[in-house]
Amino acid sequence: MSKLAHYLQEHVTGEVTTAEDVLNHFATDGSILTLKPSVVVYPHNEGDVRKTMRFTWQLAERGRIIPITPRGSGTNTTGSALGSGIVMVFPAHMNKIVEIDGKTGMVKVEPGINYGRVEQTLNTHEQFLPPFPSSGEFSTIGGAVADNLSGERTIKYGTTLDYVKALRVVLANGEVIETGRLNKRDLNKKLGLTTFEGEIYRAIDTLLEENRKVVLASRLKVSSNSAGYNLFDVKNKEGFDLTPLFVGAQGTLGIITEVTLDTIAYNPDTTLLVGMFSDIKQLQQAIIEFKSIDDLPSKMEMIDRGLLEISDRINPNHLNGVIQPPYPEAVLIVEFDDHGERQQKKAAKRGLRILEKYSTGCKVTTDPSEKASLWKLRRAVSTAIIHSENSMKALPILEGAVVPVHKYAEFVEGTKSIIKNNKLVAPLWGHAGDGDLYVRPYLDVSQVGNRQTIFRVMDEYYSLALSLKGSTSSSGSDGRLKAPYLNRMYGNEVYDLFKKAKHILDPYNILNPGVKIGVTIDHIKPLLRNEYKTHWHDHLPQG
Ligand SMILES: Cc1cc2nc3c(=O)[nH]c(=O)nc-3n(C[C@H](O)[C@H](O)[C@H](O)COP(=O)(O)OP(=O)(O)OC[C@H]3O[C@@H](n4cnc5c(N)ncnc54)[C@H](O)[C@@H]3O)c2cc1C
Repeated sequence: MSKLAHYLQEHVTGEVTTAEDVLNHFATDGSILTLKPSVVVYPHNEGDVRKTMRFTWQLAERGRIIPITPRGSGTNTTGSALGSGIVMVFPAHMNKIVEIDGKTGMVKVEPGINYGRVEQTLNTHEQFLPPFPSSGEFSTIGGAVADNLSGERTIKYGTTLDYVKALRVVLANGEVIETGRLNKRDLNKKLGLTTFEGEIYRAIDTLLEENRKVVLASRLKVSSNSAGYNLFDVKNKEGFDLTPLFVGAQGTLGIITEVTLDTIAYNPDTTLLVGMFSDIKQLQQAIIEFKSIDDLPSKMEMIDRGLLEISDRINPNHLNGVIQPPYPEAVLIVEFDDHGERQQKKAAKRGLRILEKYSTGCKVTTDPSEKASLWKLRRAVSTAIIHSENSMKALPILEGAVVPVHKYAEFVEGTKSIIKNNKLVAPLWGHAGDGDLYVRPYLDVSQVGNRQTIFRVMDEYYSLALSLKGSTSSSGSDGRLKAPYLNRMYGNEVYDLFKKAKHILDPYNILNPGVKIGVTIDHIKPLLRNEYKTHWHDHLPQG
């Protein structure tokens, strides 16, 4: 065991290890990258996080930088749950529901708790946490907050940020702060503090005051965007709140030790509509009209013909009785979940008229078993991305870029051309109501030619999204893989503000360095794995 690990083991309650198999396990996450940590710490409580941070801060003051990477379940697909120093793994011990308020639906949890477990518990209180990610069964709330996770219900209910009411955060020097919306009087108190917290409030307030126009003008006109740091929502008419800065920051500004979430009333009685489209432009037009309905759909998912064909080839029974080949160019699944029965019926009727106008065939149902059967169309994604084409895996490299909805057809068609021109096979789907798109091309990372293709298609896909005034990250965040596009996306002036915000909160660059800020493609190329295996469940201590 290294001196560093010995010191930590003496001072923290949780386990500390340098065991080779554990380090190797945490050297990968859901991404195509690899980076081996030198120590793994399983914090038992907030005190452990504080002590570890305080220790690395003191070392940094003496010129020795040991990076710290907080980690949930490691399902992030951009390499942000990897670090070369200390990896702090939360699901082992800091995984509890601290409090649920049955009346308001407010829930307070530790960061390592499984997302799906929180959702299930909330459902028993007839509440839910809306974003609805595909990885909910195997990811954590800490990861969801740090990635500003979004999902199928983002179209109506927004991203994780919309539900985070307050956070407890361990700062780079080991101090703990509680975030939440502050009125003028409370803000003044914070500004007067002589601690690191006070320094942060003063510096961020000054940064925002001096650059108000630049910050406001930089907000992109897309439905959800987690790229960069959220400076936009920190200071507004309603007050001052550091929470948005930590949400989506991917552990680069502070370590979250407790999350307070708002939740909303859950209605399992939904209406489902499915439309088949022969033309993506018609699909785009339908989406635009759906978004003009007063009661917005709660889900609007697009599945491409190629994905259905791949699913059919791998598992011919999966879509039996749901859809027959030849498949349409795209399928759109739309759900309405309004609590009022009449209201839901009215919205669904309007939706059906839209589908009749633009699609080549459509269906509507409220029957639970028929709905479950139709959702198989969307769940075909799992079949396609788990599959290997010989030694080729469906790589998570073209993930969730987003464009304004009126540019969606151009985005989908442009992406299909990229796939075709590079002679690739790739399942393609998206939260179409938000204007985002996921593409997982089958490639073999052990082949030199394929390794070059990865960076080429990434550049083509993200450049296309940016040329359509979109963002690289509707859900999740930049991590390592998309960080090289941040400067191009926001321009030098805003990127410079991101760098300043990072320096204010983490002056020694201890917190998850190499993620979000100061990353180029040349930084990430050496981190490319030699073999890609999906990695969705983390290595936790037993007994
Ligand atoms: C099959 C699959 C489907 C997916 N579907 C979706 C989807 O629908 N929507 C979506 O948005 N994403 C999706 N993802 C990406 C990923 O699952 C989410 O971003 C998820 O929220 C990450 O949670 P995690 O617990 O795995 O976090 P990790 O991957 O462990 O970490 C994610 C980031 O959070 C930081 N972090 C973790 N804990 C803390 C903490 N306590 N304090 C500060 N920072 C912390 C890490 O440093 C890292 O930067 C998917 C991934 C896979 C593999």
